[in-house]
Amino acid sequence: MKSLHTQTIEELRSSLSEGASSSVELVEQLFDVIEQDAGRVGAYISLNREQIHREALQADEQRAQHGSNSLLGIPISIKDLINVKGNPCTCSSEILKGYISPYDATVITKLREAGAVMFGRVNMDEFAMGSSTENAALGTTSNPWHLDHVPGGSSGGSAASVAADHAIASLGSDTGGSIRQPAAFCGCVGLKPTYGRVSRYGLTAFASSLDQIGPITKTVRDAALLLEVISGFDPKDATSLDAPVPDYSAGLDQSKSLKGMKLGLPREYFMNGIDPEVEQAVRAAVGKCRSLGAEIVDVSLPHTNYAISVYYIIATAEASANLARFDGIRYGLREEGANPAELYAKTRAAGLGPEAKRRIILGTYVLSSGYYDAYYKRAQQVQELIKEDFKKVFKKCDALLAPVTPTPAYRRGEKTHDPLKMYLDDILTTSVNLAGNCALSVPCGFSEAGLPIGLQVIGDHLREQTILDIAYQYEQNTDWHLRKPESSHE
Ligand code: GLN
Repeated sequence: MKSLHTQTIEELRSSLSEGASSSVELVEQLFDVIEQDAGRVGAYISLNREQIHREALQADEQRAQHGSNSLLGIPISIKDLINVKGNPCTCSSEILKGYISPYDATVITKLREAGAVMFGRVNMDEFAMGSSTENAALGTTSNPWHLDHVPGGSSGGSAASVAADHAIASLGSDTGGSIRQPAAFCGCVGLKPTYGRVSRYGLTAFASSLDQIGPITKTVRDAALLLEVISGFDPKDATSLDAPVPDYSAGLDQSKSLKGMKLGLPREYFMNGIDPEVEQAVRAAVGKCRSLGAEIVDVSLPHTNYAISVYYIIATAEASANLARFDGIRYGLREEGANPAELYAKTRAAGLGPEAKRRIILGTYVLSSGYYDAYYKRAQQVQELIKEDFKKVFKKCDALLAPVTPTPAYRRGEKTHDPLKMYLDDILTTSVNLAGNCALSVPCGFSEAGLPIGLQVIGDHLREQTILDIAYQYEQNTDWHLRKPESSHE
């Protein structure tokens, strides 16, 4: 039998319900491999062994008395910006060091109802701003496939923990690509749900109109299993969608094919600047989908080129307002001052990192009178055009296929001195957030250097089942997802 910690949620559900193994054994194995790793992957910011052990024990007792339910005793790592009662929630920022959440986010309540064990807090770019987890103030995380490469970001700790078998699955958040991009860099499945599908209550806001929580997992089925648990209407989130939640995992059927599916290839996503190895892997994946019965059609999303500019105006504008709450009065760090204004200034100067400050300044600027119309309002107008682009293509296609990132994971330090270069890498993911669609990344190959490459499957609003179906058929007919990095211990 495979060691417990290397199994998927699906596999663990049967190993645990057969009674031969327990959740306590499982979490102990995870503790061991994380300890052996000695911070080389470094996915975790904090891990409360006692609490995890207690939750695993409770799950084992519950299983013995009442049998299994959906995620009973399955450890899930949580990105450090989702509130879990009694746990730290630092957003990898100095300003929130020492802060303890007084409540559970809705996704955590739902995971608890399904019996999951909250397994530690994973690293991220500060306040989810970044693409490499190098903007993290409280730890360094590496790509398990190549320890001198970045794991992607901002949910880098989530993806690294899953890829290294340091967690069974993880929750991340995606504002402009932060679930799909690290999933692609680390060879995991990562799904950004439709805006409103999953409650944002208890998610520390970066850009509220774009943020969504979603799963990062070892397989497509596991993504479906997590998504069906965390989705659904929540009166505590004013943007939550009141739409029925399908049984996503039950919908996945190996005997189906892609016959009758029309999949679009957006021309603009295969433009200059895409690494030839990425393009080749994605084109091969498209060929595979065709051989599985899909009809592939050429489509255009003509406003793709504006996505980065629009995203970095809208996201920074919202971030500048959202981060105003970290002022030294209500949360975390406080640097005393002679008066309130000095206290705020000193606290924010000491507690926020350079990227967060850059975005607050940029966001304040685009919202200021005199520039609001020129930047913010125009960005909103172009956002409408980006939405229209998607609406048009989804009249013709069931879903779109594209790369997730222009390149595979790069070396640590390669882009830290050039924020603009880092921003430009978000070209293939940000449009989806601006349009509110759903999309996922599924492993589709490796570069010659042995770094994973992701295939992006983009769906219309609330078409999670469609993109999961496509990714599942692709995954079941390939074996990329079965490879493991050398750094993960069997
Ligand atoms: N890389 C993008 C940024 O830096 C996306 C971040 C995210 O999705 N949280 O803003």
